[in-house]
Amino acid sequence: MKIIDLRSDTVTHPTPEMREAMYRAEVGDDVFGEDPTINRLEAMAAERLGKEAALFVASGTMGNLVALLTHCGRGDEAIVGDQSHTFLFEQGGMAALGGITPRPIPNQPDGTLRLEDIEAAIRPDNVHFPRTRLICLENTHNMCYGTPLTPEYTAQVARLAHERGLKVHLDGARVFNAATALGVDVKELVREVDSVMFCLSKGLCAPVGSLLCGDADFIAEARRARKVVGGGMRQAGILAAAGIVALEKMTLRLAEDHERARRLAEGLAQIPGIEVGPVHTNILYFWLTEETDRTPEEVVDGLAERGVRILGRENGRFRAVTHYWITDEDIDRTLQAMREVMGT
Ligand SMILES: *Cc1c(COP(=O)(O)O)cnc(C)c1O
Repeated sequence: MKIIDLRSDTVTHPTPEMREAMYRAEVGDDVFGEDPTINRLEAMAAERLGKEAALFVASGTMGNLVALLTHCGRGDEAIVGDQSHTFLFEQGGMAALGGITPRPIPNQPDGTLRLEDIEAAIRPDNVHFPRTRLICLENTHNMCYGTPLTPEYTAQVARLAHERGLKVHLDGARVFNAATALGVDVKELVREVDSVMFCLSKGLCAPVGSLLCGDADFIAEARRARKVVGGGMRQAGILAAAGIVALEKMTLRLAEDHERARRLAEGLAQIPGIEVGPVHTNILYFWLTEETDRTPEEVVDGLAERGVRILGRENGRFRAVTHYWITDEDIDRTLQAMREVMGT
């Protein structure tokens, strides 16, 4: 029986085409700048996002950390969403490793930060305060229902930041999902930001890697920051080769994942005892209502016994994420399993 793994789009294995490209990849020592496959991936990524340069990093967490270390110095402050991945799920790396204070402000349910809240959080020049340097946004917003931020909103935040002498970093782990959902070129979503990180290893199916993009000077500095956190890899063209396939092929098919997430949500919403959050992309949250006496653990375990894996979160919410290896039939099987577990 196939295991239907909906816990995350990070569970995606590389495609046969990726494995073939990895096998054939031309490689060199990337710390010397001599890996032709990495150089090609970085050039492609920069071109695709409309930025001057790009840097291949081991993970999204590393990409965000390197961006923070590059934009901010010790004692500086970065404004972040209180539901952002960077604030919640990256071990406070900016503080732990960079001496940077995170300044969390509320994420709205659509993943945005209110402009008034940002404005109010920017520190005036005063000897008592750290210096605000950076505003971080996340697109799509993982914890806020996978919502895409629009180009207009992103530009507004960037305008505010730049007027105040601040930079903007976008955690665009799933920025291609955002572009797909909004029907815009990804360039539109990142035009005004100073740096953007996106993941190859999620919905794009590559086994490892993320890219950090920005202007040439920023990326030159980021290359130093990557080295100091131990991210200077050698013949990593093996990994970049899969990333090239991801960028060329996988960014074009994400609408399928969004459609399946929508169909899964519609099916789940019809099961008594389940309430489903809004669905915009490939991430779907749902939870139990008072109509059922099932516990969250019973649901997760019951599904697992039927070959379906979802993520149970601390606050009683469940997360399901569609991706390349989830088919229409898998959605039907998941709904059937859920009906059995709920006893309806
Ligand atoms: C997954 C994720 C990251 C981190 O990526 P890793 O490759 O898992 O380190 C950062 N931001 C967001 C929004 C993510 O979903």
